[in-house]
Amino acid sequence: MTDYLYSVVQRLVSFDTVSSHSNLPAIEYLSAELRAHHFKTSLQEIEIDGIRQANLAAWIGPPTSGGLIMSGHVDTVPFEGQPGWTRDPLALTRDGDRIFGRGTTDMKGFIAECLDAAGQLDYERLKRPLVFLFTANEEVGCLGAKALAPALRELLGDVPVPEFAWIGEPTSWRLSHAHKSIVLFDVTVRGRGGHSGAPAAGVNAIAVMGRVIEALGRLQEERRNSASAEFGRIFPEAPYDVLNFGAVTGGIALNMIAEECVLRISYRSMPNVDPLELYREAKLRIRALDRHDYASHSTAASIELSEPMVVPPLNSPRATPLEAALLEATGERDSGGVLFGTDGGWFSQSGVTSIICGPGDMDQAHQPNECIRRDNFERGIALILKVVDRMCC
Ligand SMILES: [Zn+2]
Repeated sequence: MTDYLYSVVQRLVSFDTVSSHSNLPAIEYLSAELRAHHFKTSLQEIEIDGIRQANLAAWIGPPTSGGLIMSGHVDTVPFEGQPGWTRDPLALTRDGDRIFGRGTTDMKGFIAECLDAAGQLDYERLKRPLVFLFTANEEVGCLGAKALAPALRELLGDVPVPEFAWIGEPTSWRLSHAHKSIVLFDVTVRGRGGHSGAPAAGVNAIAVMGRVIEALGRLQEERRNSASAEFGRIFPEAPYDVLNFGAVTGGIALNMIAEECVLRISYRSMPNVDPLELYREAKLRIRALDRHDYASHSTAASIELSEPMVVPPLNSPRATPLEAALLEATGERDSGGVLFGTDGGWFSQSGVTSIICGPGDMDQAHQPNECIRRDNFERGIALILKVVDRMCC
């Protein structure tokens, strides 16, 4: 009974859809399968870093308002060079109560469930449209959804864009209606190089970067001390803005004054605030810093912040028809927050309310020997059919 489900997940895992590679073969496969299940399909081709990628929209049912979007990303995180793999990441293997392969949990498993449910769907019963959106480059900043969300109306033609989206990111079938925004940027300090024996003639970029790190560290401390009471329940790990120094590079040799230093930063802001508020605050504080070296006051370094890359937050309203349908189908009692960003941030910018709920556990995502429990995976089919029944029939 689950032969088709496993054949789809096997095919999906076999496509190398690491974000930096083209997802076109996988998207064309999905599109062909869905057309065989009587769906209409439309591809949005985009180019990201010179690589051709595509988002897929597929829909079935009458072109009325209402209905449901189901969405997942086709790309995966890399496996090349990741220690710990003892299996072929691109070959689905069954072992005991689990299946293994890159993307089984995050999130080709859910996409396979969508296709299997599509094959079982009694589409003549649909009163409202069912729309699948399968996206590119989610793992590198939700870039596929960023292009797809504003183009939905055009891609779906005469089908009105449904108000609700179900995103099957791995939550072990728990519901989430919120996540923080994510913002990435670099700080570059440019000083003046020279021999370390004569510091007065130069400006050490690493020394000045130390002040930047201190200032941003203080900013993090302030945010931690003003934790949000409103979001304490759904983000118990950190109910405040979190800021991470991801990487720092600078300097060439021990006897040279470091001319340049680059700090790569990411932060996650609470879902109810402008994602760029913290960026602007960081910029103000950096601008107020002393840009001189400790050893010399003759020349100042320059400090530049790159343009921020933003993944919008998710802060969906509660007690929606989709929430009710998902609570009933999963048997869960409540909805919470997730610690990762999703395509739902971009969908919400286009007026689509998203809920995150899917098979597999986030602990498995991005891991070597990524796997999913077969019972958790197979459970999705009945669940999807139930929710589609409530939302579209
Ligand atoms: Zn994911």
